Amino acid sequence: MDRSVSPTSADFSIALLSWFDAARRDLPWRRTRTPWRTWVSEVMLQQTTVDTVAPRFEAFMERFPSPRSLAAADDDAILAAWAGLGYYRRVRMLRDGARACVERHRGDVPTTFAALSELPGVGPYTAGAIASLAFDEAVPAVDGNVGRVVARIAGLKVDPSKPAGRRSVEDEIRLLMPATSAGAFNEAMIELGALVCRPTRPRCDACPVRAFCVAADDVPEDYPLKKARPESVAVSCVRAFVPTGDGGAWTVAIDEGARLAGFREFPGRWLAPGESAESALRDALAVLGFSSITIDAEKARCRHTITRHRITAILHAVRAVAPPRSSTAKPSSFAELSGPGVTTETRKLIAAAAEAGL
Ligand code: SF4
Repeated sequence: MDRSVSPTSADFSIALLSWFDAARRDLPWRRTRTPWRTWVSEVMLQQTTVDTVAPRFEAFMERFPSPRSLAAADDDAILAAWAGLGYYRRVRMLRDGARACVERHRGDVPTTFAALSELPGVGPYTAGAIASLAFDEAVPAVDGNVGRVVARIAGLKVDPSKPAGRRSVEDEIRLLMPATSAGAFNEAMIELGALVCRPTRPRCDACPVRAFCVAADDVPEDYPLKKARPESVAVSCVRAFVPTGDGGAWTVAIDEGARLAGFREFPGRWLAPGESAESALRDALAVLGFSSITIDAEKARCRHTITRHRITAILHAVRAVAPPRSSTAKPSSFAELSGPGVTTETRKLIAAAAEAGL
């Protein structure tokens, strides 16, 4: 399929940037643009919507106004500041990157794509976004949205999440990107993907670059190639509500290296197929050092999803003698159980138990 206008034409960036000037959303991280604010916002926006990030961004920036302040923060402080944003591994990686800035760059965010790419936790997209948006370096920044937009414009039947597909998309961007205003160009492409060239039902009639787009005269949703989705799997876990006697309950911390490392949850474990909740709970509690264990009735259950796992969590009331001090299980107060340091699953179980009047 022919494009009606050469994609290398400066007309492309003129059309895109004029539209962006008029249509760009007023978002907190755009009001004052600094390298650190750009970095934080890009990390927050990975896998989280603008609507969720926008009300939380300034509070995080006030708490951690520089890489140095985040580098010095402990787990409790960063997890509390990240509450509501999910995917908590990201804030730990952000802190790792901030610590590298302190150790290698006197606390500053490095100014080039190459140096940014050397920071832990900073992938090609984030490095490209910071380098272009904050320093105007002419490098691509390809996330899922931009990959989709460029694949449609150039008619690429590739998967941008794969290295070869990503390279094809980056090659197209280099053809389209103007020599100056690289940051505005990348941000405009991101905005076009969010507002116009949406995953489904793109608004081609309102698109500023329709004249340059191959997919507009085809079926836009056929671009880029779809990733094969792994099948979802249903799994169950069982948890114990062992009261501490003062309104709290015993909890365990999730191990280092796990997705939700550092968060606390009720003790328990996954259920093997055909395994009874009672025997699994008894095992899990015995390993932690509880004794004289009596498993009482189911107290609550909740459902949630993590990646491809559809999880049913079942909470039982349990009476048991407290474990020795050496146990990894610790008492959590009622306030701690309602705070940001517990997993979403734990909060859901508590809410379900309260709803059931338990
Ligand atoms: S014309 Fe349609 S498919 Fe092409 S970039 Fe614009 S919205 Fe996307």
